[in-house]
Amino acid sequence: TSFPLRMRSQVVRGFGRGSRELGIPTANLCREDIGEEFFDGLETGIYYGWAGIEGTTKVYKAAVSIGYNPTYENKTKTCEPHLIADPSEECRNKSSCGETQMEDFYGAILRLSIISKIRPELPFESVEKLITAIKNDIKVTEDKLSGDDEVAAAEKDWCRSKK
Ligand code: ADP
Ligand code: MG
Repeated sequence: TSFPLRMRSQVVRGFGRGSRELGIPTANLCREDIGEEFFDGLETGIYYGWAGIEGTTKVYKAAVSIGYNPTYENKTKTCEPHLIADPSEECRNKSSCGETQMEDFYGAILRLSIISKIRPELPFESVEKLITAIKNDIKVTEDKLSGDDEVAAAEKDWCRSKK
């Protein structure tokens, strides 16, 4: 696989587990939109990159899961970025609050540029351990994307650009 990996897709509904069970929503992308052959060829794993929602101007750092969510033994492969949003106003005043939830954007077109891989997909023995791992993936994503270079500039620009 050669990076960056760019894709565009409508945001579709998944099992609703991200927010409900884990407190970490993921925008599920659509195999047909991404391109079936390209999608099927994506190596499973946890990745980081940039994401933008068409029609808006913000660009987000994103931790991306590609695969079968082995803790849940999904039968179908998914590609689902978690967008790292700024903490809400309410949250910013509370040091303990790590909440970065946004308004729902189902149906929107998301642009994603995957920069690199963090780790393979792993089954965890409990939901708590899965959450700990995802929180660490989010931290890695924030760290890896904190510098500014030419690739970052180009990929952020692509995520921001309109159709
Ligand atoms: P689903 O299984 O339908 O994907 P999730 O619980 O994973 O449900 O929630 C994902 C939805 O939450 C996204 O499609 C989007 O509309 C919304 N959402 C809100 N904040 C975020 C975020 N920071 N990253 C990704 N999706 C978010
Ligand atoms: Mg999801």
